[in-house]
Amino acid sequence: MRSISILGATGSIGASTLDLLRRDKGKWRVVALTANGKATELAALAIEFDAEIAVVADEARLPELREALAGSSVEAAAGSQALCEAASRGADITVAGIVGCAGLAPTMAAIRKGGAVALANKEALVSAGDILLAEVERYGATLLPTDSEHNAIFQCLQGNNIADVNWITLTASGGPFRDWTMEQLRAATPQQALKHPNWSMGAKITVDSATMMNKGLEFIEAHHLFPVGLDRLRIVVHPQSVIHSMVEYRDGSTLAQLGPSDMRVPIASCLAWPERMNTACKPLDLPAIGQLTFFAPDEERFPATRLAREAVQAGGAAPAVLNAANEVAVEAFLAGQIAFTDISAKVDRMLSRAIPSAPATLDEVLAVDAETRALTRKMLEHA
Ligand code: NDP
Repeated sequence: MRSISILGATGSIGASTLDLLRRDKGKWRVVALTANGKATELAALAIEFDAEIAVVADEARLPELREALAGSSVEAAAGSQALCEAASRGADITVAGIVGCAGLAPTMAAIRKGGAVALANKEALVSAGDILLAEVERYGATLLPTDSEHNAIFQCLQGNNIADVNWITLTASGGPFRDWTMEQLRAATPQQALKHPNWSMGAKITVDSATMMNKGLEFIEAHHLFPVGLDRLRIVVHPQSVIHSMVEYRDGSTLAQLGPSDMRVPIASCLAWPERMNTACKPLDLPAIGQLTFFAPDEERFPATRLAREAVQAGGAAPAVLNAANEVAVEAFLAGQIAFTDISAKVDRMLSRAIPSAPATLDEVLAVDAETRALTRKMLEHA
């Protein structure tokens, strides 16, 4: 039996992970399940999986959580400190599936227990890459990339030497607006942005896919996870989302990982690593897919990948600023406060201000994050 904690259990990554566990419950002991505000939903999952503890980040939801857990043996807790404490209980594997920089501190807490961490929470790595990786090293943790692209690259690198890599190619679906004109993009609504052509995911990452900021964040994520140098990382638009990413070696061989657009595949690869496990995913039907196509990204219409590249090249606090400004701008777009094209424009404006000096600790990253959020909100109020 292996122990597991799922940070962000009520989200899309959480649901895919629990779906895999549900098929073989006897193999897993669930330590902690966490959510932000969905207390009743979290309680039902905690009872179903006989978790040790359920934690909501939003303290106002604790009474609801307690009530829904009444009569069960599951402990209830709330607040950001409780999230970190639950993550520090230690588990053989922790799935980091909280959305946004809010996942950084609990993910770090899990890393400091030295187990395996299946990292979906890309914003944590973007905001605090060097610090997070130093902690992985220091505490002997194992970081398993869960984002489908990074999981693909991770798989393509197995048994090879990273020094032999010529190129790492991140594939991007291009999102729902791939063929839209600038004029159409300016009028794009949240409902339209939330309709991803290939993947079913949480709202924030779905909007990030539409702006291509998701690929920008993944570019930074890849830079931290696979140190081949920024000039060996590239992005190619591949609308079918069949090839999840590729690694080209110096002998001219390119290895690719293919699979259905179903996050249960990369999550299963992390849960079973270094072995394999069964999933109920529909296998690829290549004759039905017929064609795989590839395009260069258009950074005129979708400037987010350029912004991310410039932020990681600038280094220091710039990626944390990029991420925080983007999180606030996406929220504002979803709330109907700004236009779709304003998301990247606002991030660009925040990056053109004086960037704080490089954060050296987790607290310093969180301070940059908080300050950037406040400044971005202020900028949006005065827009
Ligand atoms: P969702 O929005 O579906 O779920 C987010 C989870 O995080 C929920 O459990 C939510 O709780 C919790 N949460 C939200 N805000 C906070 C907070 N402030 N403090 C603590 N917990 C919080 O997101 P996804 O599952 O889509 O994405 C999760 C992460 O995985 C993101 O970083 C995303 O980029 C990454 N990822 C996701 C993929 C996908 O297919 N979904 C693919 C690759 C990467 P509640 O439900 O109570 O709000």
